[in-house]
Amino acid sequence: MDCKNAQTLIAGYLDQELDPVRSLEIEDHLHGCVACSQVYENHQVLSKGLRTGSIYFKAPTDLQKRIQRSMRQAAKAESPPRWLSWSWVRMAAPMAAAVIVLLALVPFLRGPSTEEMLTREVVSSHVRSLMANHLADVPSSDQHTVKPWFNGKVDFSPPVEDLANQGFPLVGGRLDYLDNRPVAALIYQRDKHVINVFIWPPTESSDPGIKRETRQGYHVFHWTRSGMTYWAVSDLEESQLQEFVQLLQNQSPATLSLP
Ligand SMILES: [Zn+2]
Repeated sequence: MDCKNAQTLIAGYLDQELDPVRSLEIEDHLHGCVACSQVYENHQVLSKGLRTGSIYFKAPTDLQKRIQRSMRQAAKAESPPRWLSWSWVRMAAPMAAAVIVLLALVPFLRGPSTEEMLTREVVSSHVRSLMANHLADVPSSDQHTVKPWFNGKVDFSPPVEDLANQGFPLVGGRLDYLDNRPVAALIYQRDKHVINVFIWPPTESSDPGIKRETRQGYHVFHWTRSGMTYWAVSDLEESQLQEFVQLLQNQSPATLSLP
């Protein structure tokens, strides 16, 4: 065994990791080689020092503090912003989930729209007018009796048309209350079916197109014309009520004023 091989194996020999043949070869070489014996001795000292702790030096307090300070600064520079830390993510994730659920529920929590509320009110008023034996405050088929009757009762003059010739005779007029205000109710009839037409000037400008709904078996048509909002409601067959609505639209001043 030459010196190079011997010195490579010295650490393993010291830790008793070599097989018996190798160990004997090393021992032979160390007996006859001063240089390798010196290396062996150095290894022994180092190994003993590591085991006993005699080469362990306690760092001065000042050095400890400087190291800790620089480590803190390095950690601060490298760590992500506080709001991105895991503890925040753990808290934010359920909150985000809750917000998503709430947003999904908003359309249900918000309740019925103004139009839906008004549709219900209109149907209720229609049903009430049939139940209470109080269909008309002014029972008359004469539009020139019904129209002036509203003077002083509402702050607008409702257009009153007689559609008797078209099969929808006027029955009378009534004061009603809808959309938080007094409104004019005109009553028409087709066979045994009563049609209530509620008229008032709307607070907000609305789409003039005809909208139709069906609630509790009653058909409801509503539209805006000549600065008035109209709501017609009846249990009449929908196509007949639509015919009535069109007649009313054609009679209204907006059409009449056209050349
Ligand atoms: Zn040697």
